[in-house]
Amino acid sequence: MRVLLTGGAGFIGSHTAIVLIEHGHHVVVLDDLSNASEEAVRRASRLAGVDIPLAVGDAGDRELVGRTIAEHGIEAVIHFAGRKAVGESVAKPLEYYRVNLGSAIATLEAMAEHGVTRFVFSSSATVYEQPGELLAESAPVGIDLPNPYGRTKAMIEAIVADASTADPSLQAAVLRYFNPVGAHASGEIGEDPKGIPNNLMPFVAQVAAGVRERLRIFGDDYNTHDGTGVRDYIHVLDLAEGHVAALEKLEPGVLTVNLGTGAGGSVFDVLHAFEATVGRELPHEVVARRPGDAAVSTANPALAHERLDWRTTRTLADAVRDTWRWQERNPRGYAG
Ligand code: UDP
Repeated sequence: MRVLLTGGAGFIGSHTAIVLIEHGHHVVVLDDLSNASEEAVRRASRLAGVDIPLAVGDAGDRELVGRTIAEHGIEAVIHFAGRKAVGESVAKPLEYYRVNLGSAIATLEAMAEHGVTRFVFSSSATVYEQPGELLAESAPVGIDLPNPYGRTKAMIEAIVADASTADPSLQAAVLRYFNPVGAHASGEIGEDPKGIPNNLMPFVAQVAAGVRERLRIFGDDYNTHDGTGVRDYIHVLDLAEGHVAALEKLEPGVLTVNLGTGAGGSVFDVLHAFEATVGRELPHEVVARRPGDAAVSTANPALAHERLDWRTTRTLADAVRDTWRWQERNPRGYAG
């Protein structure tokens, strides 16, 4: 299939591009490079052994999305584009609503104008109103969420559902990601956060590299096996394979599935896995809980297993090893 990846120069999009090509698909990337790098697309092209066309621009620009669809004979869209920093969304809610809702609507409109019916959307486990253990897709989703980022994802899920009701030819998959981590095993592409990382894995990687002084562990008094927060860390290549499976299984209507491992890792589990990989202790201190954090968030991945015939195969240790390879080889990310 000829597949357009909006936001395809980002962390998850660039890995998905490679896996799609490995499965025989043709990939075109549309990205405004506001939080991504052209170098990621160059390296993904090299790894995949084909030249991935990159259109630089905004997925909220309906004309541009339409032109890109027409120019490349696009048959499906995977919509990764959007703002993704939870904390920033609290400070800049209007920007998050404009960019995330705007790009999803413009992309769906451009698709409809050009008769493209296949749509895969990057949603998030943050849409669940009550985070917890082994969350199933039937758990309540709403807009009563702790931050605007999660609300944009829940709203776009509702938009996709409404678009599907109005146009029964739409074939959509909504993928609720848990915590994407890791990097391509080559060490050539990975997560390249701007400034101080908000997320645990890139932060620990920078502590291991000596870029940050120490990890601050946000609370060790949660009701979990070691008191620290537990998340479902999913290797980005497993996640990428989930997108390919979803694309290949599309049918009329909307299929909403969790993409997670079903296993929980604590902050200490991540820290200790990193220490085992680098062969030394890493400086850390326990500080107060981060406001809005849940104790536990893990996926029940049964529906994805059943409907997508997809399973994760990589462990937390694999993700840590791959993250470290990427970090060591690219101390300043794509900047060098
Ligand atoms: N965390 C931490 N220190 C950090 C960043 C994160 O202790 O510098 C913890 C956080 O409290 C949570 C887990 O690590 O329990 C994962 O946090 P992340 O921000 O990566 O993902 P999210 O909370 O969005 O699931």
